[in-house]
Amino acid sequence: MAIIGIDLGTTNSLAACWKDGRLELIPGEDGEVLFPSAVGYVEREGFLVGAAAKKRLLTHPMDTVASFKCFMGTAKEYRLGDRMYTPMELSAMVLERLKRNAEHVLQEEIEEAIVTVPAYFNDKQRSDTKKAAQVAGLKVERLINEPSAAALAYRMAMGEEDRALIIFDFGGGTLDLSYVECFDNVIEIVAVAGDNHLGGDDIDSAIQSYFCRENALVEETLPPEELAAIRNLAEQSKCALSASGQADMELTVAGKVCRAQLTEDILFELCMPLFGKMKKLFLHLLEDADSRVSQIDDLVMVGGSSRLGVVRRFLSELLGKEPVVLDETDRVVALGAGIYAGIRRRGEEIRDMLLTDVCPFTLGIGIRNRSGQDKNVLSPMIERNSTLPASVKNRFVTTSDYQREILVKIYQGEEYYVDDNVHLGEVAIEVALKPAGQAWVDVQFTYDINGILHVTVENEMGERRQILLANQALSAEELERYTKEMEKIMLPPIEQPQNREMLARFLEYFENSTGERRERLGAMIGYITRGLCSGRKKAVRNAQENARAWLSMLEEARETKEERLFDGKDFESWEDEDWEEADGWESEEENQDGKDIGLDSKGEGDDNDQ
Ligand code: AMP
Repeated sequence: MAIIGIDLGTTNSLAACWKDGRLELIPGEDGEVLFPSAVGYVEREGFLVGAAAKKRLLTHPMDTVASFKCFMGTAKEYRLGDRMYTPMELSAMVLERLKRNAEHVLQEEIEEAIVTVPAYFNDKQRSDTKKAAQVAGLKVERLINEPSAAALAYRMAMGEEDRALIIFDFGGGTLDLSYVECFDNVIEIVAVAGDNHLGGDDIDSAIQSYFCRENALVEETLPPEELAAIRNLAEQSKCALSASGQADMELTVAGKVCRAQLTEDILFELCMPLFGKMKKLFLHLLEDADSRVSQIDDLVMVGGSSRLGVVRRFLSELLGKEPVVLDETDRVVALGAGIYAGIRRRGEEIRDMLLTDVCPFTLGIGIRNRSGQDKNVLSPMIERNSTLPASVKNRFVTTSDYQREILVKIYQGEEYYVDDNVHLGEVAIEVALKPAGQAWVDVQFTYDINGILHVTVENEMGERRQILLANQALSAEELERYTKEMEKIMLPPIEQPQNREMLARFLEYFENSTGERRERLGAMIGYITRGLCSGRKKAVRNAQENARAWLSMLEEARETKEERLFDGKDFESWEDEDWEEADGWESEEENQDGKDIGLDSKGEGDDNDQ
């Protein structure tokens, strides 16, 4: 059972693993390691995930979604077909496809994954990422922060020297900065700072608005298809600019040819508001790490948007040193996740590295405002950038005479008033009946290595209440409901790459045969196809197992050039009687319409998990 590392990206996702002493990125069916994080819906055909969906973004913007990771953990939903989908469900579709690709490539079942998340993901976003993996059939023991994964990969590549790094992880939707110290076998994340809504997409938006301004187009009044085309042009021009320094934009909008020229200088100007935000984040980071620019050995740029020359220019002006742009800038996070998967699997070849991470935001509870104002204020329990795991216990007292209960409300954020922070949950507990200030509770916050918060509240009578906030895993019913939904959207067995490949090999044998041998091969193909289309777990498995066994016999026969196997007893075993006996199988005649059996039409008691 293999463990893989997954970079679940805003724009693209990748999977990596440690195999036979080497780190490998896992290619998809098309041979590409970058798997677009996009999902589309085609009426009567179903869902498309990955490159096929990305292609349709332009032509069918209403039936295709991308960049949904930006809204992970929020209430945003996307309509596809006849229902709404959450970013968690859409991410599950991407993860499921990555899992399946990996199983096909590695020829092993994948049960577990190390999934990376932006360092600035909050509890809810982390929790939803774990749920998405769960729905995709993956166990996630460890979420690691994307920049931490990048630091791990950089450290592996750069060797042993002690170094202080800033990892500048600039992707499609987020910017994460991490201050990292590397010494001996330890990679210590000292501080992080970031913005969940600052990425390449914002640069695309700025270019889109510039193009509209230059051509007197009013963005708000343009139909979605035209807007999608302009946005696509904006992204293409941005990428072209990093290659050639200049891009001529041209597009026919509402019958009129619109043009604009994009240069490095224009883009630099357009990005000024974003650079302002970046500068603030750097200040924040250095302050929290108690460091200064002169102490940084390397500024390492990762993430797709790090390729932009204007960003490099801004950083070298800001920091007075040339940043390091890794060749594999959009792969380095996945590589780090793959290394971590190797460490988890105890790959002999990987040194035991210790990766320590920090809590990216302050966690605390709401308490009464001493100034007498109604608004409660935050009493920090775990300060941002505390090293994980972190555990803090504090005592709180009642504010009213003979109060019966205390409601401990848990928040995340840096703001003074609790209402301006993110409410994570609450837990109520009875307290001793005493005058105000005399009854108490002990509140303990423990933040684990996955960035998941456990809160325990204990009163003076020794009664305890516990709440595990982010790890609100799916209940058995929820998981079943999602699994059923996923079944509808997953590739049916007949279209799964490993099965398609297997059938293609039978078809090749069929083409190259004649007479009785050809007839038998035809029957085999019919049997396998019906099994794979049956929608029944056992029938699918029988078809796969038989197909594999027959293929190895066919191959053996081909290799030794012996026809014996086709005439003798070996193939008796798949004569009609056996088909009828096999679970869920009808005879050939009865099953004539088997091809039409859809995945949804499951019989009673069938458990279809394909
Ligand atoms: P990531 O989230 O790390 O996959 O990064 C995706 C972002 O990188 C998107 O906004 C892309 O438009 C951007 N990107 C990819 N390639 C380039 C390039 N050559 N130049 C500039 N931006 C790029």
